[in-house]
Amino acid sequence: MHTLSPDDLKAIRELLLAEKESLLREPRSALDALRHPANLSVEDRVPLIHDQFVALNFRKQSYEKLRKIDAALDRLDTGEFGICQACEVQIPRKRLLAIPWADLCVPCQELLHEGASRGLAVGIAA
Ligand SMILES: [Zn+2]
Repeated sequence: MHTLSPDDLKAIRELLLAEKESLLREPRSALDALRHPANLSVEDRVPLIHDQFVALNFRKQSYEKLRKIDAALDRLDTGEFGICQACEVQIPRKRLLAIPWADLCVPCQELLHEGASRGLAVGIAA
């Protein structure tokens, strides 16, 4: 039983590919913050360290999203697209059209967030 029409699946594949392309085209300048001049005083380095943290975090999020997009494209090919990877219920069409790389239904996603905020879910999403 699938709530997604062939047209939906086609639109979703296009969304995923477009999103992937825009992530891969991400300007390399995002990493510029990782280079810093050697002659900075310790005080001047503090904001820089913050920028580096932000840049690394940004890369990490992009990488995770890219990984999710690839997994979603795989699931489109295998016919498993739209199935929650945790509890195997059908993810609502509306959610999939909004977030085509979603791999969890809303209740599972919320459980994961709750766990993550308590530091319990490390590794579960991997
Ligand atoms: Zn679920």
